[in-house]
Amino acid sequence: MRNPGCPDCDRLWDAYRHAIMEHIQIGSKLQLASISQDLEAIKTLEVLSQAAEQSRKDARQAILNHEAGNHPEGPPSLSDEGSESSTNETNSDHPADDRPPEQK
Ligand SMILES: [Zn+2]
Repeated sequence: MRNPGCPDCDRLWDAYRHAIMEHIQIGSKLQLASISQDLEAIKTLEVLSQAAEQSRKDARQAILNHEAGNHPEGPPSLSDEGSESSTNETNSDHPADDRPPEQK
């Protein structure tokens, strides 16, 4: 969620979106290159991909810094986009208990 009417937010979010797109595009090119075993392209694209990942992180950090400094009251727009941890919680150790709490 960006703050309406803040030109800095607009600019930073545009840059962030652009950085993500670029990173994704390079990532898919890299995938194609590794499928076709194009070692030269892989080498080049790996460098580009790292640079793109860095600018993606930088853009994200810039938003966080800007929000902390300029919109401290709003909720953080970016939670944990970077981490791709899946939440698979198992509640198997707490089976459904249908018995009444007290049996008399
Ligand atoms: Zn702003």
